[in-house]
Amino acid sequence: MYDCVVIGGGPGGICAAIYAIRAGLKTVILEKLGVGGQIAVSDIIENYPGFPSISGPDLMRNFEDHAKSVKAELVFTNVKKIETGDEGLVMHTAKDPIKTKTVVICSGAEPKHLGFKGEMEFMGRGVSTCGTCDGNFYRNKPVAVIGGGDTAVKESIFLSRIVDKIYHIHRRDRFRAEKVLQDRIMSRENIEFCWKSNVEEALGDDSGVTGLRIKDIESGKTRDLAVDGIFVFVGINPNTSFVDCKKDDQGFIITDVNMATSIPGVFAAGDCRVTPLRQVSTAVGDAAIAAFKADEYISELEGRSYEKVAKL
Ligand code: NAP
Repeated sequence: MYDCVVIGGGPGGICAAIYAIRAGLKTVILEKLGVGGQIAVSDIIENYPGFPSISGPDLMRNFEDHAKSVKAELVFTNVKKIETGDEGLVMHTAKDPIKTKTVVICSGAEPKHLGFKGEMEFMGRGVSTCGTCDGNFYRNKPVAVIGGGDTAVKESIFLSRIVDKIYHIHRRDRFRAEKVLQDRIMSRENIEFCWKSNVEEALGDDSGVTGLRIKDIESGKTRDLAVDGIFVFVGINPNTSFVDCKKDDQGFIITDVNMATSIPGVFAAGDCRVTPLRQVSTAVGDAAIAAFKADEYISELEGRSYEKVAKL
């Protein structure tokens, strides 16, 4: 029986584990693939205090070293379901079930797909959702980038240093990305902006992508762009299907200010929850509160059954 199971080994998960372990809780981090979460595939992070400019992988290595220094236990397994019962909470995983008094969900989110013709057919053969991972395949070649949020703009700036030319496609005439990123992308000379445009179809053959058909929303005119790569950054879907708590219509977990979900003893932090801002700094802030409240929850439980607490 653990005191605290942390689901996810990104910045939020590692922070929750550090706080839980320092509070004396028997803690384990369950991670399905590899530690790091989204920042492990981020180029540069410039808004995490204390690190004016650091690469995502370097920042993540620092988090990992910190986790090791508090002897955090890490198990690679995929949580399939969280079950509530009289004896606490049970994590059903690909391995044996794991029992715990509390859970902090830091399972993050994954890139959304857009749904245009050819998107899935050419996924991994010209269509990508990670510039930092795949950019090098398109060195000195033309590519398209789709989306107007922080991710799309950051990745376009990153790719502009590698590729020959970028067609940056957005459905509106302005980006929603933070101002400093907007200023930076506007100064890149090898990016052509295709505003108010929708994506129609990825063009290609057996060798992979050869082009992208876009449509001007106002004129209705289509245009075929000769590109070898198509990078899609149109938002994120939360990794929350394994938990049956209250969520919004997109599946993000609803918490209170203490990061408590609708299930007693289950807390959520970072990108997987409903929050106005998704950053490394907000993920670790959420996680610190969640672990603190998990510890408080266990203290309150002493001498009582979970069933009684669930009715409080
Ligand atoms: P996002 O902020 O939700 O932006 C998604 C973008 O995709 C928007 O520009 C949206 O257009 C566009 N889009 C969505 N559906 C579309 C559709 N069907 N067709 C065409 N375009 C579509 O997602 P994100 O950029 O992945 O960011 C996710 C979260 O992580 C955000 O909270 C973001 O701030 C955060 N983040 C922060 C950083 C950082 O360094 N500070 C880096 C990455 C991510 P509209 O603008 O027209 O809605």
